Amino acid sequence: MNTENVDILIIGAGPSGSVAAGYLQKQGAKIKVVEKQKFPRIVVGESLIPRVMDHFNEAGLFEALDSYGFEKKPGARFIRGKEICIFDFSNKFGEGWDWTWQIPRADFDKAMTDELQRKGVDIAFETEVTNVEFNGTDSITTIKDKNGTFSQIHAKFVIDCSGYGRVLPRILKLESPSKLDPHSAIFTHVKDINRPDGVEGTQISFDIIETEVWLWVIPFSNGNTSVGIVGPTEYIDKLSATANTEEAIKNAIKLSDFYVKRFDKLPFEFDPIHLKNYSVAVSQFYGEGYALTGNSTEFLDPVFSSGVCFATESGILAAKLALKQINGEEVNWEKEYTEYMKYGIDVFTTYVKEWYTGNLQELFYHQPENPDVKRKICAVLAGYVWNKENTFVAKHHNIIKNMAYMIRENRMDS
Ligand code: FAD
Repeated sequence: MNTENVDILIIGAGPSGSVAAGYLQKQGAKIKVVEKQKFPRIVVGESLIPRVMDHFNEAGLFEALDSYGFEKKPGARFIRGKEICIFDFSNKFGEGWDWTWQIPRADFDKAMTDELQRKGVDIAFETEVTNVEFNGTDSITTIKDKNGTFSQIHAKFVIDCSGYGRVLPRILKLESPSKLDPHSAIFTHVKDINRPDGVEGTQISFDIIETEVWLWVIPFSNGNTSVGIVGPTEYIDKLSATANTEEAIKNAIKLSDFYVKRFDKLPFEFDPIHLKNYSVAVSQFYGEGYALTGNSTEFLDPVFSSGVCFATESGILAAKLALKQINGEEVNWEKEYTEYMKYGIDVFTTYVKEWYTGNLQELFYHQPENPDVKRKICAVLAGYVWNKENTFVAKHHNIIKNMAYMIRENRMDS
């Protein structure tokens, strides 16, 4: 069997694997990326948040990505019947990027890997990791290419960026149940021929159908728009009696007074994809000789578009720490990796939970708006969830719940 030696092996070439590879290539590490699929491939995760721009920059990918003209996302709109709440990232609390992109991931991920290959990164597409064996921090990974030929890679460190492939969590039995209630989604792309001119046409929006059910509308610069419905699994299952995803998403679009005219009669670009019980978790984020990143660790919920951001945040950080370790420096993985990542995940988990309890929605739609509250929540939605100067980060456990309680009490008093 063929064997090769690398410093760091990266499993998966999604956002997490791509930023890890970009960063490590810049530092001169000997790396290899193994990706199961052929790109472009369809994948969900099309609304980014500004924090990711820091990661694309650090990975040396920003300029190439910027040249593609992906739709710019300066904020996000949340619709609830006649009530509208718009967050503008330029009005957020603290430092950070004021904009990001809304992207068809097939094109975006291909753009990232094209740039990586142009820079000389070795990416084996259509090649699947089938097994990994560790001996201390050293590992032997078995891969199978599209012709069914097996070979082995010896690495000093493995970064698992395999998303829902969850390669190491499966092999090492690290999967654990999510703390969030089971939710599901169905999505597709439409050729957006009824798209209005101006901002309305490109405005990314989340239309709240019921407290726990919402429709996403993500317009792209290629003229297509992603439309998806999210809700408790039971609710999503009932959208079609015959489990027909096309019927389900058509029924979902009919539920949106705001969007029904724009999307009702449009044909789909691909068969709608059903993602059932998408929240996942793991019992540990790292081990001797490996780190898990992105969706191979935790995925919470799409409501605040945090998935790609956690994937790139963890991808870059794991790459930095892995390099430090193979260069002989001490790394405290528990503190520098798990505790850091868990802090941000914990903040977003509160926001996701408080969204579905309805408490956060109270704050979004409360009138008159409190500009200070809005700026601070906006910074969280932009992904700056490690900035403890923001009280909506530092006190996330109680602040939303308490403010929503006060709003309800005041309403009852008046
Ligand atoms: P991925 O992007 O999934 O990449 C993993 C790669 O690993 C894949 O290309 C896969 O082919 C490869 N791989 C898998 N197994 C193997 C193997 N055995 N060998 C080699 N390669 C392998 N996030 C957002 O930021 N914004 C959103 O709007 C958003 N919407 C979402 C909506 C829904 C319904 C869901 C479920 C998720 C959404 N997400 C969103 C989350 C987002 O999809 C993920 O968080 C993000 O794609 C994770 O990136 P990743 O790099 O970890 O994994």
